Amino acid sequence: IRRPPRSTQGVSSAASDVYKRQPYSQLFESVQIGPVVTKNRFYQVPHCCGMGHLRPRAHAAMRAVKAKGGWGVVSTEEAEIHPSSDLAPYAEQRVWDKKDIPALKLMTDAVHEHGALAAIELTHSGHNSTNLFSRIPAMSPNAQAVNFLYPKQARRMTKKDISDFRAWHRRAALNARDAGFDIVYVYAGHGMSVAQQFILPDMNNRTDEYGGSLENRLRLTRELLEETKEAIGDSCGIAFRFAVDELKGKDGMQFEEEGRAVVELLAEHPDLWDVNVSDWSNDSQTSRFQTEEAYQMPYVGFVKSITTKPVVGVGRLTSPDLMLKLVKQGTLDLIGAARPSIADPYLPNKIKEQKTDQIKECIGCNICVSSDNFSVPIRCTQNPTMGEEWRRGWDPENIKPNVTDQKVLVVGSGPSGLECTVQLARRGYQVTLAEAKNNLGGRVLFESSLKGLSNWKRVVDNRTHEILQKNNVEVYKDSRLTAELIGELGINNIFLATGSSWRKDGIGRSRRSPIQGLGGISVYSPEEVVQSLEDINGPLVVYDDEQGYLAGVIADHLSSEKVEIIFVTPASVVSPWTDSTLEQKRVQASLINSGVKIICNQSIKKIENKTAVLECVFSGSITKLPCESIVMVTERISDTALYDSLIQNNFDGKTSYNIKIIGDAEAPGLIADAVYLGHLAAQNFEASDADIQRGMFMREMPSLK
Ligand code: ADP
Ligand code: SF4
Repeated sequence: IRRPPRSTQGVSSAASDVYKRQPYSQLFESVQIGPVVTKNRFYQVPHCCGMGHLRPRAHAAMRAVKAKGGWGVVSTEEAEIHPSSDLAPYAEQRVWDKKDIPALKLMTDAVHEHGALAAIELTHSGHNSTNLFSRIPAMSPNAQAVNFLYPKQARRMTKKDISDFRAWHRRAALNARDAGFDIVYVYAGHGMSVAQQFILPDMNNRTDEYGGSLENRLRLTRELLEETKEAIGDSCGIAFRFAVDELKGKDGMQFEEEGRAVVELLAEHPDLWDVNVSDWSNDSQTSRFQTEEAYQMPYVGFVKSITTKPVVGVGRLTSPDLMLKLVKQGTLDLIGAARPSIADPYLPNKIKEQKTDQIKECIGCNICVSSDNFSVPIRCTQNPTMGEEWRRGWDPENIKPNVTDQKVLVVGSGPSGLECTVQLARRGYQVTLAEAKNNLGGRVLFESSLKGLSNWKRVVDNRTHEILQKNNVEVYKDSRLTAELIGELGINNIFLATGSSWRKDGIGRSRRSPIQGLGGISVYSPEEVVQSLEDINGPLVVYDDEQGYLAGVIADHLSSEKVEIIFVTPASVVSPWTDSTLEQKRVQASLINSGVKIICNQSIKKIENKTAVLECVFSGSITKLPCESIVMVTERISDTALYDSLIQNNFDGKTSYNIKIIGDAEAPGLIADAVYLGHLAAQNFEASDADIQRGMFMREMPSLK
């Protein structure tokens, strides 16, 4: 829950009036970026969204909501400048030629409509593109393997390639200007762009004037900046996105050394410095491994002392006080955000209107990132409307009003029940929320109590805060409802968000029958093992046959205790799903560093004589492992008992309830899925015929003209 605005003590009375009116006024000052001027200091930096050139209407509507929410600059994701940099199957932007202009213009028009500037990140990915669609060989400063797991190499760029590339970049800049962009990027970050690959010595072993000394390695970037400025600098601001540090120590770019030297050499070249750390997993660190807001400032903080041009930086910035401090102390001119703008597109307006307690704070889970990695439209744990702006017409702050004044009951206060309650209440329905436990929050309370996940509690805090402000919600804690009790309440519309529980019989991805012999050892669910730490006999096996994130978190959480922990999984790495949230390496490193023994590629066949009999998933060969206790993270069982009995009563003609089961009770998934299903149910309640006729959601169809 956000703090109220700061105390005005010690401020003189005239100043105090101004301060009371707008304590964050400095965040709403304009900034000059070359020939263009922002309306404030809130800057949505380029971020991927799984929409790109494939879903231009969805893309335009998603960016437009951010402009509407007050962001002064709204950027695209990477925009490929040529088919020799084709990121398929990832859905990024394209500015290959003039044919891409109309789709891009949808976005710039939509953003301009709300008074924001539109920015585009021109990209040639070098050996970071596999060119699976175009089938053109990739090219890079050196001949080397492409960055994706595909047995293919990029060829070394010739002088002709370099000159072609510069011409493509210039042409793309002109097309971007014609598409209506106000700010155009030269991009050297994330290990994802050919300009950065030229700068980094371990990717550039050339002996010509583009290799060797830093001046030589910077030559291409300097040319791009100069040529872009020459081509469009009279009408567009030229931004330079540069990763000052690779977080590899002496093995990579370091901000104290070459990172700084690059800023010194190009100090006045761009109109805007957009600075961060590389690669993507370092730039977009999750809260599990990086709890600090503004964690990039120690790296990028020096840039402003070198250039007179404005500087934008990121670091999951969600706190207005911290934003103000960064501007006041001269660290940043513009508050950059990708994830905070996804979690709350209305963040700037909420600060302006002094509704900071209503900010939906990013929890740092990277579910947004995972959707880009799966090439599907962006989604967000905190903001279930993200990605649904066009296809469902959703907006995070506006929802259609109630149709009638019927009462509704929501059973269960996990993420699904809480979101459903908030949205039904916003619509104006009289909502009763009942929770069996004495605290609201369901699975989030447990998960956010585990090592590294405390920020996840914001999902509950932000929603309970809003519920407490509403006078049309009645909350009953310690109230386990039954079909009889519901009958006594006399409410006809029932949303069941009763959640799910982890099964303990070993059924999971690799087997559909229970593991035999579990009766001979202590078997725990994830919740039980955390509560029973004192009584556990080691060795404790953490068995992960779900292969999501939780087993890895549990092993990490328990590893500080004095029990020998052995992580066993049929997967080939720990928590493979966390690759999609850019965390897998950190997850596995954390377990290794805390002494957890890791056994991959093995399923548990049976337990006998306090021994786990392991079977190799490839060869079927058997090994044995001492095992006194086990925590099962394999699969969940939806809690449908109440739903089943209510449906039966309807079926028997005893009642005629309008019943909807939501969240993990309907189908267990991510917290983001539970929130989304709660939101969807609230949106669909008393849907109009027009809503129903429109179908589930709109689709972008290829034009057959
Ligand atoms: P989801 O992720 O779908 O929101 P959770 O498992 O997080 O589901 O939350 C489900 C919540 O529902 C839990 O807090 C649980 O205590 C509560 N609950 C389950 N059954 C009942 C019931 N019969 N009456 C009231 N609350 C219930
Ligand atoms: Fe933040 Fe998670 Fe939403 Fe991404 S998905 S913006 S990390 S809350």
